[in-house]
Parts: sequence; C-alpha cells; structure tokens
Amino acid sequence: MQLLRKTPSRIFIATLMGGVLAGYCAVARISQATGDEEGPNLYTQYTTTFLQKLDRLASACDEAGETDLAKRIRNWMPQRAPKKIYLFHPDSPATNKSRKSELEQTFREMCVQHGEELLELSRRLAADGQVTESVMVLSEAIYHAPHLPEARRLLGYQKDGDRWITSEAEKQLAEGNIWSDQFGWLPNDHLPRYQAGERYYHGRWISREKDALLHADIKRGWKVETDHYEVITNHSLEAGAQIALKLEQFYSVWWQVFANYHISSEELKKMFSASGIPRSSLKRHKVVYFRDRKDYVSELGRLQAGIENSWGFYFENRKTAYFYPEEKDPEKSTLWHEATHQLFSEMRASHKVARLKNNFWITEGIACFMESLQPGANFSTLGGLQEGRLPAARARLEQTHFYIPFDRLVALSGSDIQRDPDIQKLYSQIAGQATFLMVADNGQYRKGVTDYLRAVYRGIARPETLALKLGVRLVVLDNQYRDFLLGRQTVRPEP
Ligand SMILES: [Zn+2]
Repeated sequence: MQLLRKTPSRIFIATLMGGVLAGYCAVARISQATGDEEGPNLYTQYTTTFLQKLDRLASACDEAGETDLAKRIRNWMPQRAPKKIYLFHPDSPATNKSRKSELEQTFREMCVQHGEELLELSRRLAADGQVTESVMVLSEAIYHAPHLPEARRLLGYQKDGDRWITSEAEKQLAEGNIWSDQFGWLPNDHLPRYQAGERYYHGRWISREKDALLHADIKRGWKVETDHYEVITNHSLEAGAQIALKLEQFYSVWWQVFANYHISSEELKKMFSASGIPRSSLKRHKVVYFRDRKDYVSELGRLQAGIENSWGFYFENRKTAYFYPEEKDPEKSTLWHEATHQLFSEMRASHKVARLKNNFWITEGIACFMESLQPGANFSTLGGLQEGRLPAARARLEQTHFYIPFDRLVALSGSDIQRDPDIQKLYSQIAGQATFLMVADNGQYRKGVTDYLRAVYRGIARPETLALKLGVRLVVLDNQYRDFLLGRQTVRPEP
C-alpha cells in the first residue's frame, strides 16, 4: 500500500546535463561480461559513435536549411542525467511517410545501422546471461530500427501490412475491432457513433448519459482490455482506456528493467535461438478504478484496515489493484507504486508479501523507486535524486539524521514496518535506498537487487540474503548510500 504523504513531494526538476557525447551507459557492465577485449564498454562505444554521427548530420541539416530535421535529430537521443535509467519504447511514434529528403534518408539509414548493431549486442548479452541488459538493448534497437524483423519477433510482434502489432492486436483486428485511445477496442463501425456521443449497450444504441447510469455500480462497470491489463471502472469508459494505456506504458518499463526477475538467462538464450520472448503473461492483470474516493473506501474498507489513508491499494488475495482519481497525485505515482506490487507478485509464483517475517522493506522500497517514473513518448526515465520521495529522504538524513541501517531494516517484517510510528520517514528512506541499489555506479547492484527481490518474493530470503546477493557488507552499503544521497564522491565497493 502506498501511504498518503503529507505534502506531495514530487518535484520535477529537469536536471538534464549537457555533454551528450559522453554517451554514458545506462546499461551497466556490458563489456566485462561479454568478455570483450576491444573496448571498455561496447554499448558506450556504439552510442558515442552514433551520437557523434547524429551531431554532424544535424549540423549538415542546419547548413541545408532543414532546421526541423536538425531539431528532430538532436532530440532523437536523451540527454542523460546521472543516477537515472533510460528505457526506450519499442512503439515509438510512426515515422513520417511523406517523401524524404536526402538528409532524412541518411538519418533513417544511420538509425537502422545503429539498431542492427544493438541487436547483435543484445544477442551477445543474452548469450552471456545479462538478461536485463540484453532486453533493454533489444528495445532500444527497435526504437532506432522499427522494422528490424528479428528484433520485432523476439519481442513478440507480428507483421501486419507495413506495421508491427502484438498478438492481442492481431486477435482484435481479426474480429473487426479497432483501437481507440479514447474508448479502447471497439467494433470498427462503432467508433464514429461513440465519437458522436452514442453508446452501444446489450444490442442497442443509447445515450452517453444512460450508459453512465447503467455502469454506475462498480459490479457493472465498464471493462477495458489491453495486452496485459483488464481495467474495470465506474468512472467512465474514457477513464478506463486512459488508465489502461498508462498501465501498458508502465508495464513496458517494468518488463525491461526487471527482465532479470521474470525471465531466466536460460529462457532468454532459448528465445534468441527459437521463437522470441513471450511478451504477454497468460492472464491479464486486474485493475479496478473507482469513480471517487467514497466508492473506493466503501468497497475496500471491509477488506483492509486503514484504506481511507491510501490513494491506491494492491490486494494480494484478489490479485487486483484498486485506485480512484486523486487530484493530489497528478503524476500518478500511486498508480506506478501499486502496479509495481502487482507485477512483482503476479509475474512469478510468489509468496504472500504480507506474511514475510523479514526483508519486507524492499517490497515497499522498490515500489517507491518506481514512483520516480517519468513516462515519455520515445523513452522513459526511472530514478534521479530529485524525483519521487528522494528530496524528502535527503532532507531527513541531513537535517534530522533519521536513518535505519540496512542490517536492522532487513530483519523487519511487514507488521514491524506498518506499525512503526516513523513510517512516513521510513518510506522516504527506503525509497532512497532502493533507488541507490538500482542506479548507483551505473547500476552495479541492479542484478544483485533483482536476485534479492526474487528471493524475497519466493519467501526464501533471510536477513543475510541482501549482503550475499550484492557481495558487500551491509555496513559498507550504509556508507555508500549516504554518499550517494548526499552527493558525495561514491566510495568504491569492497573487492
Ligand atoms: Zn506499497
């Protein structure tokens, strides 16, 4: 559960740095594990070269008076900020189909070539057992080269004319349906009438107002289904489609950054040699979106004590996440938080988190880390010292010296944490610690913390598991975390 914060602490500060040509690597430690002798890091090497080519091409566009294209080329890659993870979306906006200039043609060819390089790198990473890195690089390959057939097939897409679609889209299209961002999947010929304010209900056309009355009870709410989610809502069909779209965007990020959690290295190797990565889990994740707080509390109050103090809730026993529109949470951090609980619980067979006798903190910490998600059209970011609860964590550490060391934290159960009178402070601290484990030193602990999460969710973690998975003493980790949060020189870990 995400507890209410006294003041919404999300402050978006664009900390984008210059120095793009450094091309710094969001995908950690690639070269070591690929055993590559030729350079310190193949990903960085490829990216740096690509950025240099883009920069030269953008200058050529300026000289030729193609300023729009120059701008597009300069915005093609993110300007990476430190302590953030960048995730590219395979479904980047369609490219302009009109006749291309020679410079635009060069830009497309350059991107395709870079995409091909990244596909090859992704294969090498998979062969080397670097699952998350391989999947992140594969998604980026498609961003640059949307029509790379092998990369598309690996991610479960199928060709449909001149576009690539998911298996769910293929099924819907075969049934004569069309996707609308406003209403979800609809029969093709229904869309104009929906746009005109009519609604189809049990074989007849009715007004939007009548339709709203018929769906006012959540038990008879609208249902919006997408590739990975089923959203029930009594707010409006439009709100259901909007939440489903946000959740799909979230899924794409979570699926990449925690690939190591839900795909084993053997599975990934097999996928590269066979048919591709199954992107859809077998069952859709269930989400209920109430029209208001009153409905949310009255429906869930009998299931969970303290529900009135929350903005959203993932109920493990029902495998369902519940939300309502909360104006104090415009950036949807509650949605990201509860959706994180849901995916960690449902993407693998898992132990009930509520029954954990220790290591409970990471289940909340990682959900607080995911609150930092900044979704974008081409790529999204996670982490950053200015996002989510991190400013609060830093202020508390600096000003009040509030800090529970890792060795005490790992021993706490769920009820220890939920009963703690300092729970607000603790949540900001664990947000900071989880962020540190995910992004510090270019993600050197990312694989270890994902392995730790697997152990925790399987119910087999012990108080010593965190140190064992990361290969570092917890007292050293405490110091590294302080340095990370306070912006001091990072202490290198023990060998
Ligand atoms: Zn939570």
